[in-house]
Amino acid sequence: MENNPPRKKVAVVGTGMAGLVIAYILKNDPCQRFEVELFEKQDKLSLDSASHTILPQGGEGDKQERLDLPMRALADGYYENLKRMYDYFGITYGSRRFVYSLSTLSDSSHEQVSPYYVHSSNNHQIPPLRPEGLSWARWLIETCYLALCYYWFTACCFFVAPRTVESFGAEESLRQYVGRICLPRYYVKRYLLPMMSSVTTCSHDALLDFPAIDVVDYERKTFRKPHYTVLGGVQRVEKELSKGLKNWLATKVTSVENVGTEVKVTWANTLDGQNHSKLFDHVILAVTPDVIGAIFEPLRSAVAAVPTTTVQIVIHRDFSKIIDCSKSLWRQIASNRSDLAPQPFHICSNAEATESTHEHPSAYLITNHPIAPIDPEKVVHTATLTRVLRSPTSRQIVNSIFEKKVSGQEKSQLWQNGDGNVWLVGSWCWDGMVLLEGCVGSAMRVANGLGVQVPWMQ
Ligand SMILES: Cc1cc2nc3c(=O)[nH]c(=O)nc-3n(C[C@H](O)[C@H](O)[C@H](O)COP(=O)(O)OP(=O)(O)OC[C@H]3O[C@@H](n4cnc5c(N)ncnc54)[C@H](O)[C@@H]3O)c2cc1C
Repeated sequence: MENNPPRKKVAVVGTGMAGLVIAYILKNDPCQRFEVELFEKQDKLSLDSASHTILPQGGEGDKQERLDLPMRALADGYYENLKRMYDYFGITYGSRRFVYSLSTLSDSSHEQVSPYYVHSSNNHQIPPLRPEGLSWARWLIETCYLALCYYWFTACCFFVAPRTVESFGAEESLRQYVGRICLPRYYVKRYLLPMMSSVTTCSHDALLDFPAIDVVDYERKTFRKPHYTVLGGVQRVEKELSKGLKNWLATKVTSVENVGTEVKVTWANTLDGQNHSKLFDHVILAVTPDVIGAIFEPLRSAVAAVPTTTVQIVIHRDFSKIIDCSKSLWRQIASNRSDLAPQPFHICSNAEATESTHEHPSAYLITNHPIAPIDPEKVVHTATLTRVLRSPTSRQIVNSIFEKKVSGQEKSQLWQNGDGNVWLVGSWCWDGMVLLEGCVGSAMRVANGLGVQVPWMQ
């Protein structure tokens, strides 16, 4: 009888989308070469941990609903690997239509003024709604101006390539790019930053520091493409990915170090405070760069330059700041609770940042990155998440960590993915916006490095 070599022991630290995807791929290696253990500091798997279940209120048609936090939207054109994976598992996702109202918060009173513009995702609502309080003439001028700026920016995204280190020797930030293409400041401040901030959930300044290539590439690839959310919530994805996996919950990894040809993982049990350690053949870090800096010494100084921020998401019923646009069409939108109805999204900005509030069909509000106070009595659930941001410097560092090693070429000075059998996966571990596609793409790259077939690529 043929003797199989012993299976490789693999530790995956972090159970967000990236950790679960790589753990699933290795666990399901057709040659069964890996024994995978997952480590998670929370007392449950992390992918669906911030989401919240709304119980039926007893009203007619009320049903239990899972609200995904964050929303975890995806779009055609940008999420090819994520979509392939969902299709492989039979996870269904539905196209969503949103109607966005854009307004400002006064800095002093935090009071919202009436929306200055209302528009719909992919312009499905033509002509756009006219916010009450805006005269027909003002609205027509604003719409024409907006259309001009929007098409100018879109044309630039397709025809004016941002400068990158590869093409120009220096990286161009979004701030520099919008200056170079002469995009009016009024449009940048009132439209581009509020809308993009609802994707990146960070301050306007931090967004302007993003590499221009990230935003331009995102705009190009998602231009006129539908957006989706997972039907039934990402709990379905978590369930599929985690089937049969051995996981250690309430287990906070405190250090990862190379010992000879093996990798030692040390962790503390967050319930009893006991410390433990174990040797593995491979360790895959599926955590944010700030955590990597704290537990893995070889990358400490490099990842210190990758910006992160914390973001709050609040589910609540404080409708006091939701302006009733009182236009009949808006009312119709807000009252149409069918699954296919457009859903209102209130995008509110002050000078520094933007908050977005989604009027969920369950009649709850979900506010991302709140900047105005929410009545604590009306808060149902709060989640605080770490968001990894991008900057021209961090793009260089990330690209250098994941650079392909070409034989004969001088090796980068920096630690590189896979060195000492330590690997990185995560939404930030690719050259693009920090979104779910990065989780799946980076996990597939590690699978490739370990010579494992990815089931949804067969
Ligand atoms: C507000 C917000 C909205 C977003 N909206 C979207 C969206 O619509 N579409 C989209 O594609 N993306 C969106 N994203 C981005 C995307 O959801 C995340 O980037 C992605 O989920 C990150 O997944 P991950 O697996 O890389 O890491 P994480 O989800 O951060 O998972 C890492 C996990 O590791 C665990 N951990 C940390 N330290 C330790 C330790 N020492 N030991 C053990 N475990 C540890 C933590 O519990 C953590 O949850 C959004 C993000 C935010 C914050």
